[in-house]
Amino acid sequence: MSQILNEVLSANQAYAASFNKGHLPLPPGRHFAILTCMDARLDPAKYAGLTEGDAHVIRNAGGRASDDAIRSLVISYKLLGTREWLVIHHTDCGMELFTNEIMGDLLSNSLETATIDASGWHDVGKGPGCTDGKYINWLTIKNQEQSVAEDVMRIRNHVLVPKNIPIYGFIYDVRSGKLVEVPAAMAAGRPL
Ligand SMILES: [Zn+2]
Repeated sequence: MSQILNEVLSANQAYAASFNKGHLPLPPGRHFAILTCMDARLDPAKYAGLTEGDAHVIRNAGGRASDDAIRSLVISYKLLGTREWLVIHHTDCGMELFTNEIMGDLLSNSLETATIDASGWHDVGKGPGCTDGKYINWLTIKNQEQSVAEDVMRIRNHVLVPKNIPIYGFIYDVRSGKLVEVPAAMAAGRPL
């Protein structure tokens, strides 16, 4: 068995040994949802004070309002009763380090892990790659404040999202651990 799998399973054994949350209902008890980045440095349970059963946390690369993120948010409200949503991007996000074109080119060369240095991304793996990556919108980020505001606006204006649900936009600072409000996103997310 891989070392990682071993570690995960032994951590789970310890978790289950003192587990006492088996009584929790399915809908989140504090009635809110967070959309945030998958970055390993972000721990929404810690930075937002969550415990099991509290809230929905939807994560993807960048914390972007992709169609699938919106699918989850709509389920979160319509079927599971969340009443407030937060969109939280963060400083030093990997999504700022490439563009659709770069990703498409890298994948065309090789599917293996690429490297990055001061001169940009390089493919060190062997091919063949695949051009399918050129047809995907990777939802990269140029400017965090702008991406948060755009995502809040996209969610706000979605036809399946009720107008009265407040949507808040923040940037998490990976250096300080602080959530910093993004005024343009807060304005865009105000309930109508
Ligand atoms: Zn990120």
